[in-house]
Amino acid sequence: MNTVEVAKAQLPDIAAQIVYAMRTMGVPSIPRNYELFYEAYIGSNPALSRDLAALGKRATQDELDTIGERYFASQRTRGIENAHSKIITQLDSLLRALNVEQNSLESYNKLLGETVQQIASKSSTSADILRNAITILTVATGDTMAHGEKTVESVQQKSQEMDVIRKELDEYKRIANTDSLTRLSNRRAFDERLAGIFESENGFLPTALILMDIDHFKQINDSYGHPVGDKILATVATVIRTNVRRDAFVARTGGEEFAVILDGSSREEVYEVCERVRIALQSTPFRNSKTGVDYGSVTISLGGCMAAEVSDAGELYGKADIALYCAKNDGRNRTRLFEDGMKKDFNKSWLLYRGA
Ligand code: GH3
Ligand code: MG
Ligand code: MG
Repeated sequence: MNTVEVAKAQLPDIAAQIVYAMRTMGVPSIPRNYELFYEAYIGSNPALSRDLAALGKRATQDELDTIGERYFASQRTRGIENAHSKIITQLDSLLRALNVEQNSLESYNKLLGETVQQIASKSSTSADILRNAITILTVATGDTMAHGEKTVESVQQKSQEMDVIRKELDEYKRIANTDSLTRLSNRRAFDERLAGIFESENGFLPTALILMDIDHFKQINDSYGHPVGDKILATVATVIRTNVRRDAFVARTGGEEFAVILDGSSREEVYEVCERVRIALQSTPFRNSKTGVDYGSVTISLGGCMAAEVSDAGELYGKADIALYCAKNDGRNRTRLFEDGMKKDFNKSWLLYRGA
């Protein structure tokens, strides 16, 4: 019997079977991996099941995340596509209403022109012609105004409907860019923001990238379990957020990895921000309020690089990663900013995701 068959035969519920299969395959039991295995287990998406099975027993987090992005990202974009097609429908009927309005104005204009011509062509304007002209124009003006009112009403209604759709779209965008555990920006938003640094017209603003990785987080998970690990991640996120400027961009870029993009700060100021975050975290108590269990202190290593010292997003990410490597290598719970000559001794990255 293979892993799945053993699990199905021996374990009481699907959740236990999934966790068993994940453990057997050496997959970290974190929520996004569970989501993948759940889909594969219930078999609702054969292509996903096939791709997951093809990874074999030693799948890396990178490979799992690639599958997650491939299948779940498409679900998340479906809402956006719906909103998009609603907007097209609304715009289409708006255009039709405006078109009818234009036709009616054109007929009115033509009628006005013809009546003026009729009046002008008579040498002596008879009372009858004038009376006729007034009647025709009164009816036509009434019709045109009624038409105009209907168009205004319909335009107002459509614009209200479009406003609702716009809000829906904003909400989809917010969800697509937010990490659900920490409420920070997620990897996708980070990638966009990072690429934006070198596309921005404010090239003169000194910008810095800071990468952060929690120290020995695996031990925390191993000692207290993943749910506690998740709570700690959320608290670390709050500590980072509250110790940087409000306009700083803060993201959770991977499991226990965070990134901050700071605009308008000098190298010295960037170092100060890093140290503020590091010291604040080091002195934050981590304790279970119900059971009183003390999880000890949690520390973080930080690596930073100034955008002005590199030429593209990949180099900025790479050099901040080298600085983070040095912070880890020098003993963890410290800040290092990239400087010439810094390098990695071997090809290990502390980050789940390599390269931007
Ligand atoms: P280092 O100081 O060298 O960074 O050690 P580390 O233990 O933090 O690094 P390592 O990369 O070995 O382990 C990271 C751990 O983070 C492994 C994984 O189980 C855990 N992790 C990743 N994502 C999540 C998550 O969403 N929730 C929880 N609870 N743990 C996670
Ligand atoms: Mg770590
Ligand atoms: Mg890491």
